[in-house]
Amino acid sequence: MKFWVQVHNLPCSWLTSDVAMEIGDTLGEVIKSDNVSEMIGGNFIRVRVAIDTSQPLCRGRIICFDDNTQGFVSFKYERLPNFCYWCGMFSHDDKDCSLWLRSKGSLKVDDQQFGQWLRAPQFNPLKKMLWMSKASGVMLQVVIRVVYVYL
Ligand SMILES: [Zn+2]
Repeated sequence: MKFWVQVHNLPCSWLTSDVAMEIGDTLGEVIKSDNVSEMIGGNFIRVRVAIDTSQPLCRGRIICFDDNTQGFVSFKYERLPNFCYWCGMFSHDDKDCSLWLRSKGSLKVDDQQFGQWLRAPQFNPLKKMLWMSKASGVMLQVVIRVVYVYL
């Protein structure tokens, strides 16, 4: 299934289409965009990826930067279909989840590892323009040498 994935919590200097493709590559097959500007969302980046939906939805990645610091980037998905908030699978919903059924009601909604927060609001290019004009900072090109850790 193809999704626009938004990558949040990146430092400003990492908000580039190259980084978007690099990170998208860890999720599945990146669908290259002809219009690079649609990959820069303002304070996040976007990348279109074909994702294997037989696997649980990926919530984010820990990224190691060049100076050995680490950061957690979180993913939000545009136009996400229904999926299970217990285990992140698309094959069933919350009520049919084996995790939930086996718990016999002892699991609470607070225990859900997935949720609405994985749904990105509809991307709005106008909002992005406003954000870009407010952030007058220079976009620095950084050398990407990152290690991805699966969560
Ligand atoms: Zn489930």
